Amino acid sequence: MTKRKIFDGAIGIDLGTTYSCVAVLQHGKVEIIANDQGSRTTPSYVSFHDNFRDIGGAAKSQCAMNPEGTIFDAKRLIGRNFDDETVRLDIKLWPFKVVNRKNKPVIQVRYQGGLKDFYPEQISAMVLEYMKETAENYLNQKVTKAVVTVPAYFNDAQRQATKDAAAIAGLECLRIINEPTAAAIAYGLDGPTATSKGKNERVVLIFDLGGGTFDVSLLTIEGGIFTVKATAGDTHLGGEDFDQRLLGFCLEQFKSIHKVDISANPRAVRRLRSACELAKRNLSALARTEIQVDALYNDKDFSLVITRAKFEELCMDLFVGCLKPIEKVLSDAHMAKNQVDDIVLVGGSTRIPKVQALLREFFNGKELCSSINPDEAVAYGAAVQAAALTGHDPATTAHMLLLDIVPLSLGIETEGGLMSVVVPRNTCIPCIKTSMFTTTAPNQRSVEFPVYEGERPLTRDNNLLGQFCLKGIMPAPAGVPELEVTFNIDANGIMNVSARDVSSGQESHVVIENNRNAHSQEDIERMIHEAKLYASEDQKMKNEIEQSLLRDLDAFTF
Ligand code: AMP
Repeated sequence: MTKRKIFDGAIGIDLGTTYSCVAVLQHGKVEIIANDQGSRTTPSYVSFHDNFRDIGGAAKSQCAMNPEGTIFDAKRLIGRNFDDETVRLDIKLWPFKVVNRKNKPVIQVRYQGGLKDFYPEQISAMVLEYMKETAENYLNQKVTKAVVTVPAYFNDAQRQATKDAAAIAGLECLRIINEPTAAAIAYGLDGPTATSKGKNERVVLIFDLGGGTFDVSLLTIEGGIFTVKATAGDTHLGGEDFDQRLLGFCLEQFKSIHKVDISANPRAVRRLRSACELAKRNLSALARTEIQVDALYNDKDFSLVITRAKFEELCMDLFVGCLKPIEKVLSDAHMAKNQVDDIVLVGGSTRIPKVQALLREFFNGKELCSSINPDEAVAYGAAVQAAALTGHDPATTAHMLLLDIVPLSLGIETEGGLMSVVVPRNTCIPCIKTSMFTTTAPNQRSVEFPVYEGERPLTRDNNLLGQFCLKGIMPAPAGVPELEVTFNIDANGIMNVSARDVSSGQESHVVIENNRNAHSQEDIERMIHEAKLYASEDQKMKNEIEQSLLRDLDAFTF
């Protein structure tokens, strides 16, 4: 086999909760790349068998037969702690096993003759690797760089863990960008350029309701400059929650008909969940549909006609809840509804008619934009950004500038556990922000600076990002030293925090580690090594299967 040359550009990957998508910008055009099964989106699934793995469509299609060994939703775990409320709730719903390792959730599967642990980053890395290979097969070149998208509401730990996943997959992650921002880039390049009111700036609201996450972003687009004004959302709301409501209803129905509760049977639940998801999709086009699963449990079939109205009734509180983040972004950006020029729909769940109707109603009957494919817009925008960062297609991207924002306020904990915000939520990045702090005791020589993110006034309700100590402060009465704290946030939303004692004239400089919740370099290297090992074992297995098929063929050839 000839060695592939290295692609000098970068690819854009939308690493979704339920589906992922990869794209590349070449010769002035974005190509959404189809995988080896011919699909432009790939299920974010990995399945483990005795001695091989499947990734994508192949993994998803066998999940009913192998529920404990089929992993999905890794994005709901990535960068989270085991004791997070959402993690504990999710674990109850998944057929696969998640265990606690030093307060990190770890997925446990039977693989290669024993129980194996995988961090969510490793599972995401397997999906990313598959997307990378999809692009490599299309380009016939080796791909080493990518832009990967995350929900705007992802916190620092979730972003950092996503970067780790890319590294494990052998990709240099040039930038992590927010999914709605990526969608806006796709829309901005393809969409109209001026408003009906004649101004050059368009105010665009991106409403992104996917499989597992919900994001709303308000942006302005003017002459190739994308400025994110505000973002809001819910990292834990999406199509899967609607599936869950439908599933709950079906389980109740089954119980009342057959007097048996099958909710603890992973295989039955998995099959019913798939049927519910299909029914939900059908109900976007039909007024009624049938949920049917043969021999769901002990030869008992399940069949139920469900109407769109019933589905809407089951999910109405979730649908209505989607309007709250819109109010939040409008108020954060000090804008009124009628100032919004375009409402852009992104994510598969925006196909639900009731969601669209509520949105239209909220904006007093305004038409919603559907010029971009909701499943592909995010990868499309990521590919444009990837090309811009590598200077790969300057004619298309030269005039593009992306101004993103911090999704959560950042600050320092002060006396009494109070949150003192240094970088307010929605500040444009990259940015450098400085605030003055001081001592609380006479002749205090050192001060601890715990760094938090979050919107609550008490730090105990926010997320601790890290901590550092400024030493060597000149002795002085309490409250006299001027301690200058600087937050330096790069374009990826990853920050460096430092402190300086101004009053003493002496400089003491501390940089906070930004990979607090992510893995150590050693861990990443180990996981990269494992990923390579699994890939080569997969290849070996594939070769063996091919060889045995050929032998079988030979045996039948006369
Ligand atoms: P995404 O994360 O953007 O790929 O969105 C995937 C989610 O969209 C899944 O929960 C799908 O069930 C859901 N979805 C896809 N198509 C439809 C449809 N026609 N109606 C309702 N939900 C859909």
